[in-house]
Amino acid sequence: MVVLYDRQKLTSEVLQLKQQNKSIGFVPTMGALHAGHLSLVAQSLKENDTTVVSIYVNPTQFDNNTDLEKYPRLLEQDATLLKNLDPNIIVFAPNNDEIYGEHVTSQSFSYEGLEHQMEGKHRDGHFDGVGTILTILFDIVTPDRAYFGEKDFQQLQIVKKLVEKNDIPVKIIGHPIVREANGLAMSSRNKRLTAAQFEEASVIYKILTEVQQKFSTHSIPKLNALVKERFLKYPNLKLEYFQIAKEATLVEAKRKMQNTKYRAFIAVFCGDVRLIDNMALN
Ligand code: AMP
Repeated sequence: MVVLYDRQKLTSEVLQLKQQNKSIGFVPTMGALHAGHLSLVAQSLKENDTTVVSIYVNPTQFDNNTDLEKYPRLLEQDATLLKNLDPNIIVFAPNNDEIYGEHVTSQSFSYEGLEHQMEGKHRDGHFDGVGTILTILFDIVTPDRAYFGEKDFQQLQIVKKLVEKNDIPVKIIGHPIVREANGLAMSSRNKRLTAAQFEEASVIYKILTEVQQKFSTHSIPKLNALVKERFLKYPNLKLEYFQIAKEATLVEAKRKMQNTKYRAFIAVFCGDVRLIDNMALN
């Protein structure tokens, strides 16, 4: 399998494929791959002639240096996982110089307000970093389709907006959340949890499921209160936010309206590991 580190090499590889009328699927990741990532890659393999997977821990989307430093980096293991899935996958693993040159800085983006909700409020500059790296990667890879997990539902909506506003010719495809057997959403950060934390963190899924089950019979304020109360029983889990929002705008909902899709969003600290999750409610 090819692992390319150089953007020029990637661009010329893609050009050759395009000259042969091959379609390109793209899965951007930060590595430390798990079954969630591989499920996105498998979908891309099904729907495209060639799949490019990028593995790059993008510094501009981190607002917390410890999180950036502790982010697991496992390129060799990741390459083996991808090779076992399909040896024709092209892996793009650039370094910071290759992506940013001398200036590791973000451009500033507006996504019609989507960026001011939830993760945008709690992670300063995060979605500017996401927009910056994806603009660069889409330019290098020029994919026909790009795959993003609903695990980062806000990011998925924001990427759709980025592409629409900037006329980037790529179809953005969302993929359902892949979970551990205990319900915890798979995440590269789960590798930093102890066995006991890993078990306790499954409560996040259980509480989201309870909210989903009660959504048709309980008011939104009642559900918000219920979630807060449930977390009181787990002092090792620190609820950063829980909110029910409209899927389209991500604006927090105070009451339910007809013909509107809602989703519950949550961020929880388990020790110093920040976990996010979400679930469709109707
Ligand atoms: P990351 O490496 O965390 O930046 O994730 C790369 C892509 O994989 C993003 O589009 C994520 O939303 C997606 N992803 C991460 N975890 C999961 C999961 N558990 N289920 C589905 N997609 C995921």
